[in-house]
Amino acid sequence: MRLDVVVKVTKLCNLRCSYCYETPWLDDPRRMKLSQIDALYDRVAEMIAAVGDTSSAITFYWQGGEPMLVPASFWKGVYERQDRFEARDGVCIRNELQSNATRVTDEHVSALRGRYVIGVSYDVANDNRRTAGGRPTARLVETGIERLRAGGVQLSGGIAVVSTANVDHAASVVKFYLGQGLNLRLLNIYTATDTQPAVARAAIGWDRYIDFCRNALDEPGMREAMSAGLTVEPFTSAFRIRRLTEAGAAVTPSDGRREWVLLVDTSGDLYSAGDAYDTALRYGNVFDDTLNTLFLSPARARRIARARERIDSICASGCEFFGHGCDGAYVGQCTPEEERAFAAAGRCYLSVIAGMERN
Ligand code: SF4
Ligand code: SF4
Repeated sequence: MRLDVVVKVTKLCNLRCSYCYETPWLDDPRRMKLSQIDALYDRVAEMIAAVGDTSSAITFYWQGGEPMLVPASFWKGVYERQDRFEARDGVCIRNELQSNATRVTDEHVSALRGRYVIGVSYDVANDNRRTAGGRPTARLVETGIERLRAGGVQLSGGIAVVSTANVDHAASVVKFYLGQGLNLRLLNIYTATDTQPAVARAAIGWDRYIDFCRNALDEPGMREAMSAGLTVEPFTSAFRIRRLTEAGAAVTPSDGRREWVLLVDTSGDLYSAGDAYDTALRYGNVFDDTLNTLFLSPARARRIARARERIDSICASGCEFFGHGCDGAYVGQCTPEEERAFAAAGRCYLSVIAGMERN
């Protein structure tokens, strides 16, 4: 079993990024307790046992809010409590902490080093990422990255959200990440454009996102860096799908049941990541409910039925990669905003970007 678990440890944040889907809660100081982390680990261990796969690979993505506003001692505790997984032969646990890198302290460097890898959120042309007081943050982030590196903390890469601020600056984004030798994810704005007007104002549409990706791929050094092993999403996944298809692969189309990214809210509420925080699709609460209650919930049954409908209507209706290099799970568990964009285009981002490999 390969599973990503996104954990929203706190919503508290020192920044006020204009596209942040956590905006209503960024002043909320509540955070998970270590006893609740124990309950989360119990549920994950039960999932591994239920699946019976001793070579399971679990990645915990520790997110916020800003995780470095939580004391360093908490992060030591979170890591130390994972001893229970080590008792299971072959189970591989990875910890990635997603940070805005503006509040890096010596205590955090010491607590994170050798235990966590760090993903940095930085858009490079960064005007949509400001402090609560409205100050720019680019210099703070770059100083934070230097501090983490100087302290021996491993960086896994960065996320650049493509928004109104950087959509015309693909060259700057690529130059920064290639210069740092960091893996990169170029993300379109994530969900909540329906519910939060400020998020919608910072968002760019399908065509501009695809154009940004094309421009980024054409930047000098980008294809060479990827050939040398750098991971740059969405290109790496899209090109893998294309190559598998061309090699004659046959994958079983998704029936919508496989969980690949679960999200645990600060309260313990559990969702498939694309559905956060739609209460109609909330499986239950990992702190309080049993594994059976969560996974046999009516909400999960609704989520699965919806995934099948999406796969049938978007993937199975003509994507050349479906059932070959791709099982359709990406579309099955996308956000409502992505679903509309994909339905209008008749395909997903990966399907379009796969075609850029040889252009
Ligand atoms: S740093 Fe992250 S959590 Fe904080 S405001 Fe920005 S996007 Fe939201
Ligand atoms: S539309 Fe996207 S998710 Fe669906 S099969 Fe094609 S590449 Fe895969």
